Amino acid sequence: RAKADGRGCFRFFEPAMDADVRLQREFEFELREALVRQEFEIHYQPIVDIATARPCAVEALVRWRHPHHGLIPPDKFIPVAEEIGLIIPLGEWILGAACRTAVAWPDDIRLAVNLSAVQFRSGTLVDVVRSALRSSGLPATRLELEITESVLLQKDQDSIAVLHELAGLGVRIVLDDFGTGYSSLSYLQLFPFSKIKIDKSFVAEMSSRSDCAAIVSTIINLAKALDMGTTAEGVETQEQAELLRAAGCREAQGWLFGRPGPPSALVLDRPAEPAQATQTPVRINR
Ligand code: C2E
Ligand code: MG
Ligand code: MG
Ligand code: MG
Repeated sequence: RAKADGRGCFRFFEPAMDADVRLQREFEFELREALVRQEFEIHYQPIVDIATARPCAVEALVRWRHPHHGLIPPDKFIPVAEEIGLIIPLGEWILGAACRTAVAWPDDIRLAVNLSAVQFRSGTLVDVVRSALRSSGLPATRLELEITESVLLQKDQDSIAVLHELAGLGVRIVLDDFGTGYSSLSYLQLFPFSKIKIDKSFVAEMSSRSDCAAIVSTIINLAKALDMGTTAEGVETQEQAELLRAAGCREAQGWLFGRPGPPSALVLDRPAEPAQATQTPVRINR
């Protein structure tokens, strides 16, 4: 430490640094405790077939029910959980819990679970996925694993090999937040993704900016040419849904169709309201 080695120039900054470090350590400690105390919960958001507004999948989104600070969104703690390695047991818990919930859904509804790049480097991911499927009884074909470009960033052969092993189990691999990272197009050659999720930043601007609309329709056409599906994220208005449908996008997710919520709030047996108002809902008996 600076204090002990006599480099006086560092002393001046010490109190502030110590306070920051202490806060960071406290946060990390609380985060580890949160897993033991079962303070994490999974919220679920429907992904719908744009043409019918009928759910075809559901994304699991983790939250931290903090005893004093209320519900904390994942962007606030997932990066820290990744830094301290907690994402490995946390991710395992999320996958297991989500699979156990999803097995009770109608069998044409898939479950989408987000994976961190850190889980790919753990060496245990394939076993974790296999055992979550086996112990829940969820068929592999009903599981979609969402990854971001960060998994592929190093063009790292191990992560690509893990992706192939996961696909070998029969699960689908989905590329999340497409278009926000670097050299996205080259990533599409690295692995045959089942689906690409178009990032909500493009969707948000597509009705007001023709360049965003052009990017969105290009992504959809590119995905089609590569035999991959597309899901648009962050669909908030009927106009966006209409533009996406016209551009050939098959699936959508966003507040228009349903916000993330506890599993008890999930409605899977009828189309969401907006589509009912504009077209005849397609009902399938279950
Ligand atoms: P993501 O996987 O891209 O998830 C979509 C995010 O968009 C979610 O944010 C969702 O609540 C939000 N969203 C959905 N519809 C709309 C909409 O119409 N408008 C707007 N503005 N936002 C919408 P959330 O739940 O805060 O999650 C943020 C990110 O945290 C996720 O982005 C994902 O990268 C990460 N994350 C969430 N759960 C997990 C998890 O279990 N494991 C890991 N590793 N990461 C997770
Ligand atoms: Mg996702
Ligand atoms: Mg996303
Ligand atoms: Mg995201």
